[in-house]
Amino acid sequence: MPPSAPANRRSHDAHGPVRRRPGRHDARGDRRGRGARVTLTVLEPATEAVLAELPRAGSDDADAAVARAKAAYPAWRAVAPPDRARLLYGLADALAERQEELAVLEARNAGKPIGDARGEMGMVADVFRYYAGGVERNLGDTIPVSGGVAMTFREPLGVVALITPWNFPLAIASWKMGPALAAGNTVVLKPAELTPLTALKLERIGIEAGLPEGVLNVVAGPGSVCGQRLVEHPDVAKIAFTGSTEVGRGIAAGAAATIKRVTLELGGKSANVVFADADLEAAAAAAPGAVFGNAGQDCCARSRILVERPALDEFMAALQPRVEAIAVGDPLAETTEMGPLISAGQRENVASFVSEDAPVAIRGSAPKGPGYWFPPTVLAPVGNDERPAREEIFGPVACVIPFDGEEEAVRLANETIYGLSGSVWTRDGARALRVARAIDTGVISINSNTSVRVATPFGGFKQSGIGRELGPDALDHYTELKNVYYATEGS
Ligand code: NAD
Repeated sequence: MPPSAPANRRSHDAHGPVRRRPGRHDARGDRRGRGARVTLTVLEPATEAVLAELPRAGSDDADAAVARAKAAYPAWRAVAPPDRARLLYGLADALAERQEELAVLEARNAGKPIGDARGEMGMVADVFRYYAGGVERNLGDTIPVSGGVAMTFREPLGVVALITPWNFPLAIASWKMGPALAAGNTVVLKPAELTPLTALKLERIGIEAGLPEGVLNVVAGPGSVCGQRLVEHPDVAKIAFTGSTEVGRGIAAGAAATIKRVTLELGGKSANVVFADADLEAAAAAAPGAVFGNAGQDCCARSRILVERPALDEFMAALQPRVEAIAVGDPLAETTEMGPLISAGQRENVASFVSEDAPVAIRGSAPKGPGYWFPPTVLAPVGNDERPAREEIFGPVACVIPFDGEEEAVRLANETIYGLSGSVWTRDGARALRVARAIDTGVISINSNTSVRVATPFGGFKQSGIGRELGPDALDHYTELKNVYYATEGS
C-alpha cells in the first residue's frame, strides 16, 4: 500500500518557498531600463502546488554572470593552492551544516524521497571535500629532453559554464563545480528551469563560506535562452553539460563555433544482465532500486533487465513482490521509496511507453490525486528492438529481455546507441570480468547495481557522452596542459 497522497500536506516551512531577494534583481533589471521581469514558476511535483516564483533569467543575465565570472577569474586562479583548498573545505563544511535544509528543498522541488535527498546532499559536501584535496595534487611532469628541462602545468581554462538537469539537481552541479573551482576556474551554473532552488541556495552558501564574489554564479532561466547564450558566449571557455543526448548534440555543435571545450553526460539505456548461475534472490532484490530509484529518472537506470532464459521464471517470481512493495508517495515521508515524476509532460511521455497492449507483467501502486504519479511497471518479455527497450524512458518502466548464453547477452547489451552504466550478475568470476569488459559502457558493476562514487570516474561511451566526472580524472577536464621548455645549456 502506498502512503496516503500528499495533496493536503502543505505548510510552507522555513525550508519551503524560495524567493530571490527582489531588490537585487529588480536593480539589475532597472539598470538595463527594462520593465517588469518575467517570472519562473517552480512547482512541487508531489502536489502540483507552486513552490517558488523567481525572476526568470534571460540572455542579459547570462552575459552579466559571465562578466562577473570573468572579472573574478584572475584573482581566483592566483589564490595560493592551500588557500583555495581551504575555501573549498569551508564550502564543504557549510554545505554539510545545511544538509537537512537542502535535502528538504531538493526533495520537494525534485519530488525525490527525503532519504535519497539526504544522501545526495551528503555527496555534494563530499565532492567539494574531495576536490579541495585535489587543488594541491594538480600535478605536472618533468620530461627528459636535451639542452634543458621540459615541465608541464595544468592551467585553468577561465570561465566555465555548467548546464545541469532536473533529476539530481545539486549533486550533478557539484560534480562539475568541485573540479572546476579546484582547478582555478570561475563558474556560471545554469540549473534546469524545473529545479533551480538548491542551486540558488548554493550560490548564497558559497558567498557565506568566503568564496570571492563572482567565482560562483547561478543563472536560473530557460535552456533555449540562457543555456544557449552560454554556449555561444565568446568569454566562456568550456561547457560542462548534463542532460539529454538530443540537447547535448546541439551543445556540441554550438560549442564548435568558438572551439569551446565540452564535456557531455547524456542519456542511457543500461543493461542489468542476470545469468542463470547468479544469486537470483540478490539480483531480484537489487533490480527494482536500479531502475525505479528516483522514479526511474536516472541516466544510470538499468531499464533493460536481461535474464538468461532458464532463470526467467524464478527471477520474475522473486521480482514481483519486491516491485509491488515499493512505497510510492509523499517525498517527505521517511518510509517513501519512490516519489512522483518531475512534471505532467514527463508523465505523459512515460505513459506513451505503456500502451493498452503493452506486456505489463508487474505493476506496483501509486497515489491518486494531485501529483505526477506513475506506478513502477515491469514489461515482459520485450524484444531488444522494441521501442521501450530502445529509447530512454526516464520513468519507472523496466523491460525484461530474455537471452540465451553469454554471447547473446553481450550482443543485446551493446545493441543500443548508449553506453553509460550496467550490471552483471553471475557466480562465475571469470565470466563476470569477461562480460564487464565486453560491454561498451563507461561504468559497470558486478553483483551490485551501484555505479556512482565520489572517488571513481563516471561517464559514458558512445552517445552517452564525452569526458568523465568525479574521481581524479575530472580535474583534467577543467584544465589545459601546458608544456614549458627551460633551456639550461644556451638557447
Ligand atoms: P535536457 O537536455 O532537456 O536539459 C538539460 C539542461 O540543458 C537544462 O538545464 C536545460 O535548461 C538545458 N538546455 C536545454 N536546451 C538547451 C539549449 N538549447 N542550450 C543550452 N542548454 C539547454 O535534459 P533534462 O530533461 O533536464 O534531463 C534529463 C536527461 O538528462 C536524460 O536524458 C538523462 O539521461 C540525462 N542525464 C544524464 C546524466 C549523466 O550523467 N549522463 C545524468 C543525469 C541526467
